Amino acid sequence: MIRDFVANNQKLFEETNERFIYAIGFALCLLAHTTYLIMFIILRVREMMYFNIFSVVFYLSLTILILILRKGQNILVYSAATEVIVHASLATYLMGWEPDFGILLLIIIPVLFLVMKGRLLVPYIFSALSMGMFIWLRVRKISNAELKYNFTSNKIIGSLYIFNAVVGVLAMVYILTVYMLKRVNMEYKLTAQSEEFKKAASIDPLTQLFNRRAMNEKIREIRRNSVTPRSRYVIGIGDIDNFKSINDTYGHDTGDKVLVYVANLFISLIPDGGYAARWGGEEFLFVLPESQIVDGLDFTDQLHKSLRAHTFEIDDCLFGVTMTFGVSEGIPTDKIDTVITHADKRLYKGKNNGKNHTEYTD
Ligand code: GH3
Ligand code: MG
Ligand code: MG
Repeated sequence: MIRDFVANNQKLFEETNERFIYAIGFALCLLAHTTYLIMFIILRVREMMYFNIFSVVFYLSLTILILILRKGQNILVYSAATEVIVHASLATYLMGWEPDFGILLLIIIPVLFLVMKGRLLVPYIFSALSMGMFIWLRVRKISNAELKYNFTSNKIIGSLYIFNAVVGVLAMVYILTVYMLKRVNMEYKLTAQSEEFKKAASIDPLTQLFNRRAMNEKIREIRRNSVTPRSRYVIGIGDIDNFKSINDTYGHDTGDKVLVYVANLFISLIPDGGYAARWGGEEFLFVLPESQIVDGLDFTDQLHKSLRAHTFEIDDCLFGVTMTFGVSEGIPTDKIDTVITHADKRLYKGKNNGKNHTEYTD
C-alpha cells in the first residue's frame, strides 16, 4: 500500500515540495505552542506564558518563511531546534521533572539527525547541548534545588505529563513517517533506475531488439533450460542484402528506417519462445528453442515472403529489400560459438550464391 502511494505520488517527493513538509512540521509546532500558551495562562506560569507568546510568533514566522524563502532553510531548522531545547529546559527548570517537559530534550536528538541537512557536525553539537541541559537539570533534581512552580495537584501534573508525551511522540511519528515515505520513494526510484540501466545495457536503441550481449545471455539460458540433452535449438543469422547501397542511394536515415522495419518484422513473426537480436550493423540473429532446422526454414521463409511483398516508400523513394539467412541447429552439449559460426558460414555461402534466400547446409 505504501509502495503504491509512493509510486503514484512522485511529485510529493520532489525537492521543491520539501518545504511543504517543513511547513507542516512548523505549523504543528505552532499548534502545540498555542496549546502550551493557553495552559500556562491558566496555570499562571508567567515566564512560560511570555516564552510561548514568543514561540507562537516564532513558529508562525517559520511556517511563512519556509514557504517563501528559496534559501536558508537550514537556519530555520536550527533555530526551531534551539527553541525546542530552550523551551524544554526552561520549563523543567521552573516546574521540575514531574510534568516531564524534559522528555523533549531526548526526543529532539533522533529528530535532529533526520531533519538537519548540510553540515554533518551540527546534529552532534545540538545533541551535546540537549544532553548537557538534560544532565544539568537531572543533577538539579537530585540536589533538591528549589522550584519556582511546584505543582502538587496530580491532575495538573498528569495533564502536563500526558500532553508533553503526546507532543513528543507526535513529533517523532511525523518525522519518521516523512522519512519512511522518503526511503520507500528512494527505493522505488533506484529500482526504476536500475531497470532502465538494465534495459539500456541489453536493448539496441534503434531497433528495440536485444543487443549482442543480451542475446549471448539468452542463448546460454535456452541451452541451460533445454528439456532433454537431445533437445535441439535453431540459430539463424540474417543480413540485409546490399544495404550499403540503400544507405548510399537514399541516405543513412532511410537505412535506419529499413532496419527498424526489419526488426519489427522479426518481432511480429518470431514463433513463441524465440528471440531475435540485432547482431551487428544490418545483421540479425534469432534463436528458436526446442526446434529443428525445418522450423528455422519456416520462419525465414515467412521473413523472405513478407519482405518481398513489401515496397518501402520513404521520402518519395520506392524500393524493395531482401535478406540472406544462414541457419544451423545445435544440441545443449554443442558449443554456442560453434553453432553460431555454422550459421554465419552458411550466411556467407548464401551471399555468394546470389543472396535473397536461406542456406542450411555446408
Ligand atoms: P551484402 O549484401 O553483402 O550484405 O552487402 P551490404 O552492402 O549489405 O554489406 P556491407 O557490409 O558492405 O555494408 C553494410 C552497411 O551497413 C555499411 C554500414 O554503413 C551500414 N550500417 C551499419 N550500421 C548501420 C546503421 O545503424 N544504420 C544505417 N543506416 N546503416 C548502417
Ligand atoms: Mg548486408
Ligand atoms: Mg553485414
